[in-house]
This record gives sequence, structure tokens and C-alpha cells, in this order.
Amino acid sequence: MKFDTVMMVDWSGGNDRGASPKPDAIWAAIAREGRAEEARYLRNRQVAEEWIGAQLDAERAGGRRVLLGFDFPFGYPAGFAQALTGNVSPFAVWDWFETRVEDSTKANNRFDLAGRINTMFKARGPFWGNGLARDIDGLPRTKKNYDNPFADRRQAEQQAKGAFTCWQMSGAGAVGSQVFMGLPVLARLRRRFEASVWPFEPLTSDIAIIEIWPSLTLGAAPEGKIKDAWQVEEVARTVSSLAPEQLADMLDINAPEEGWIFGLGHEAQLKQAASQPPRLSNNCFALPPGVHWTPVAEALATLKGRLVPVAETTVMPVLEAAGRVAATNLIAQRSNPPLPNTAVDGYGFAGGRGEGVHQLPLTKQRAAAGDAPVTLPEGQAIRVLTGAALPVGVDTVVLQEDVTLQDGQITFRGPIKQGANTRKAGEDVVAQDVSVAAGTRIQAPEVALLCATGVASVQVYKPLRVAVLSTGAELIEIGGAAGDGQIFDANRPMLMEMVRRFGHNPVDMGIVPDDRVQLAKVLDEAATRADVILTSGGASAGDEDHVSALLKQAGAMSLWRIAVKPGRPLALGMWQGCPVFGLPGNPVAAMVCALIFARPAIAYLGGEDWPEPQGFDVPAAFSKNKKQGRSEFLRARIRDGHAEVFASEGSGRISGLSWAEGLVQLPQDAMTITPGTSVRYIPFGSFGL
Ligand code: AMP
Ligand code: MG
Repeated sequence: MKFDTVMMVDWSGGNDRGASPKPDAIWAAIAREGRAEEARYLRNRQVAEEWIGAQLDAERAGGRRVLLGFDFPFGYPAGFAQALTGNVSPFAVWDWFETRVEDSTKANNRFDLAGRINTMFKARGPFWGNGLARDIDGLPRTKKNYDNPFADRRQAEQQAKGAFTCWQMSGAGAVGSQVFMGLPVLARLRRRFEASVWPFEPLTSDIAIIEIWPSLTLGAAPEGKIKDAWQVEEVARTVSSLAPEQLADMLDINAPEEGWIFGLGHEAQLKQAASQPPRLSNNCFALPPGVHWTPVAEALATLKGRLVPVAETTVMPVLEAAGRVAATNLIAQRSNPPLPNTAVDGYGFAGGRGEGVHQLPLTKQRAAAGDAPVTLPEGQAIRVLTGAALPVGVDTVVLQEDVTLQDGQITFRGPIKQGANTRKAGEDVVAQDVSVAAGTRIQAPEVALLCATGVASVQVYKPLRVAVLSTGAELIEIGGAAGDGQIFDANRPMLMEMVRRFGHNPVDMGIVPDDRVQLAKVLDEAATRADVILTSGGASAGDEDHVSALLKQAGAMSLWRIAVKPGRPLALGMWQGCPVFGLPGNPVAAMVCALIFARPAIAYLGGEDWPEPQGFDVPAAFSKNKKQGRSEFLRARIRDGHAEVFASEGSGRISGLSWAEGLVQLPQDAMTITPGTSVRYIPFGSFGL
């Protein structure tokens, strides 16, 4: 049982809750593959129904199967459906309510309806709890002197600790009103989308609706989060992370009249799924034992094989999407061009013409860009202007410069090929083809392409939060007074700016001294505030290399000895489910390693295709005897078509980074370079800077 999208809705029986997000309103969240989008506040049922419908439309258009959850009972205790409607089907109850519930943003008739049902049964029940000031015929205010012709709870509620009875219409936690005000919406959604409803019918539709009660497995929300918002995110995330067999197992229930609460009886499994770390495995940076020096290309291939996108997705207007990465293939809604049109100002007619002089009568009609295509009588020509859709009967255009116009006739010299100076419909992009592929970063050209192909809204990845911290007892923050032995932190500001250039959001975690306890605390915090952690310094294997020591202690680190210069070992590890890139402390090595290793890894985690920085071969303007064993990256720039390199290869020379405009990459093998030797130059722009 596989669903691409899980959508969870926390319903409400009350009135409109106002424009700003509030608890006890309707909240909804969408999750895919174990990642939830931020919960959506829906101020009233009308807004909610419309929003849910739009989401389902979008999911269906994208070919995705949806599991849609609501948090109120879909059925009543046995016997109620038959007694109310004469039909045992729960859908008869849905229809009964749909035709009788009156609902607006300010008021509804739920209490009167409850009273009416009680009166029908000539009983002081089953419903109780009048939430209004005025008395309501047939509806007791409290459970006192109440009698109920039906069971007080469904089978499901008898098993689910703390669940409320659906007969209670008001008071804290009551669900009775939600059912009244929810069933009509369910009935409409089921009909409109031909959705399947669990567990009453087989889930054959691409949209399945299930009953979920978040409190079944969830406790209190984290501080500062609205409980409903948090719960729908958690439930959606958790359910979407279930394996298909697990899901099928949980959906395997026989409760044809009363319905069932999803996950009831499977609480342990659900809790286990909820507590799963992000999908990166803890040993994702492990290296095979005995490995000494890994070549750069192999290190990159290993990294790529271990990582998966962890960014959340969201849907946004194309006009706001520049800089984001497409999360799905974005499909052309329209061909470009949509109709055949003329590429030039000139005169249109049917068919090509051979050698010699040709003359055609000119119709009085004219076709300009934006005009609907007219029909051209046979044997005539028509004035056409660039971008105009070709009139019916026109497939060839002659340039106006090649034509003489006299007495209502055009004259021109052949030959001219059939189809000349025209553009065919869809010659650029055909409707329903991929306009922009998943994994592409949307830049100005993609914005143009998406607009031209009628794609108004796009599903994109959210930028990652990348925590950046510097380690070293010698470091102080710029702006402070540097004492003897102290240096200003240069790496963190540099790396934060690089993260921004890569299209993600840096999270500043400051400077941490060479102290394991403090470092662990900062890493803990970084892991909760960010998706990726970048550190610099302390990554090697010395006494004061606490980043690598801590990650090693956590049992989830490898020191990657990559055959690269500059660069000491890279400490790659997981801290509380968060990938950590431990960069060297030397600023030059930190920047080069960030460009070569962290940048593609972060791009990939963020949903982007693995970037391969493109360079080109140019003659060297320098000499060098390169030794065998390591790939080298030299700070370089192009002048007069030749690659110059910075005078010093010292890894602390930050001025060289600023001097350079790119890197020269030298292969692992030995190499003798003299002026004119071909070397590979990669501009900083190719690294995303
Ligand atoms: P480490 O990798 O911690 O052994 O540091 C290597 C060298 O880089 C030392 O000289 C450090 O002082 C220097 N260094 C480390 N972190 C920074 C930083 N954030 N800014 C500038 N220099 C640094
Ligand atoms: Mg250090």
C-alpha cells in the first residue's frame, strides 16, 4: 500500500477563528517520504474545504496518490446509522448530515440538529452538551438524567484510552460537534474526488481518506509550537515514513459500520516510526577499513552514494521560486509556441515557391501578435507581423524586405521553401513534456521557460539550514580586541557567505573553544536548529582536535583521508542525525574543501542534482614540479588566456583566496608544468560562488 503524499487535517466544529494562527482551529500538514511541510492554518471550514480540494487537485495532477487523514470519527456506534437513516451504511449518515447541516463562518445548526435527533428517538440522548446560551429542545446540557439508546462508545473508543465519545457536543475535548460539521465535508470530498474511505471500502482510488487521532501516540507539543499544528505535522511525517507493508498492516481492519482509528493496536510501531531520525543513516560516512588515501573522485562518488535529499518541499508561485530547486519534474501546461507563428514581419501564404518571380493578391486582413488566427482565401497572401499566429491556410512567410507591394499585389523572387520564416507549434517545448526537471535550480532562464510553458506554481525544495561554527581556543570574534596569541575568526564569516551563495540559509553557531563539553553542547543545539553542520578547525587527529574526537566518540565518524592538497583529513560524521562536515582550520584549506566536498553534498541534501563544477583547459602561465600522490587545487586566475597561480601555496594565505578567481586542478599523478602546458581551470562561478 503506497501513497506518495500524506495529508493530515485537524478538524474543528467551531466558528471562524480569525486571520492569525490560533490553537483549536483547523490545521493541516502535508508530508512526503518522511518529511513534513510546515502546518497550514485554516481559519474556517469553508477555507479548509477549498484548500484541501486544491491540494488534492494538485496532487492528482502530479500523478501522486494521497492518504488524507481527519481527526474525528467517521461512524457512530453500531445501530445508529440504521436507526437514523434506515440504512446500515455509514455513508447514509454522511448524506443525512450533508443535507441537513447549515454552516457558515459565524454560525451553524449543530446543536439544534442534535436536539432534533434526540427528539426523533424520543430519548434524553444519545447527544448531550448544549454549548449555547439558549436552551435547545431535546438536547440536555449535561449528562445528568441522560439516557442513550446506543452504546456510549464505538469499539475503537473502548480500546483507545482517553478518547471522547461522539455523543458529547460541547466542552473541552468534545468531538461530537466536529463529526456533525465534518461529515458533510467528507461526503463532498468523497464524491468530488471519487475517494475511497477507510475502512468502509477498498482503497482503490488514488485518494484515500482515513480517520486518525493524533493523541493516540502523541504527547505534549514542544515549547512555542501550537499543539494542533505540531500534531498534524508529526502525524503526516510519521505516516508518510511508514513502509508500504507496515501501512498495509495497519490498514487491515474490519469495522464496516463504526469505522476505526488508524494505528489503534499499532501504537508501538507508530511511536517507533515517529522517533526515527532523518533518513540519513548513522553510518553513512563510514569508510571501508584499511583505506588510506582516497582519491578525490572516489571520495565524491562515495559521498554521493551515501546521501539522500533531506530538504522539505513546498508549493509556491513561479514568480517567487527563483533560487529554489525543483522538487518534481515541472510539466509544461502549454506548448511553446502554442500555435505556429511568424518569426518575421512579412507576408504569409500557402506553400513554397520555386525559382523566378511570383505575384500574389494581398488580402485586406492582417495578422499581428495576439490576433486570433483568421482564414486566408486560397491563392492569396496576407500581411503578418512577428509573433502573429499563422492564419489558417498560411505555412510560409516571405520577409517584407524581399517584397514589393503594388496595386494590392505582392511580388517577390523565388525560391522560397515551404515553412520559411515560421515557427512550428511546440518546436521548442511540447505541452505535457518536462519543462524543468526535478533537481534543477530555478534561475532566470528557468523562470522564463516555466512562464512560457504556462507553469504558474511549482513544487520546490526549501533551502537547508546550515549551521556554521568555528572551533579553536585562539579565535575571537571580529570587532573584539585581539590579545596576544589570538586571531580573528575568518572561516565562519566566509563559510556563512558561501552557504548563502549556495542558496541555503546559514545558522550562526559562533566560536567554540577547544573544549569537548562546550563543543558537544553547541553541536547538540546545531543539530536541532539545522539540517547540516559545517565546522572548521579541530578536524584532524591531534590533542586539540575535538571535532573529530567527539564525532568518533558518538560512534558515527570517519576521518576521510582524501588525497588532496590543500586539506588535512575531513571529519565527516553524524551528530544526532545531522550530517557534520568537519573542515580543516586553515582558511585556504577550509574554503577549498568546502567547495570541493561540502558544496556538492549540501546541494544534494537540498534536493539539487549533484553539481559537477565545469572547467576548461588553458595554457599555464607558471611552472611547477608536481609530485605524485595527491590532487592539487591552486588559487588561480585567467589573464591573457593563460592560467596564473598565486605566488605562495601556503594554506594560511587568505590574500591568495581574494586574489584568485578560480582554481587550477592538477591530477593525482606527477606532472611537470612549464608556461604553455595545458592545465584545467575551474572558475569560482562553477563552484556556485
Ligand atoms: P586546526 O585545524 O584547528 O588545527 O587549525 C589549523 C590552523 O588554522 C591554525 O593555525 C588555526 O589557528 C587556523 N584557524 C583555525 N580556525 C580558524 C578560523 N576560524 N579563522 C582563521 N584561522 C583559523
Ligand atoms: Mg584548532
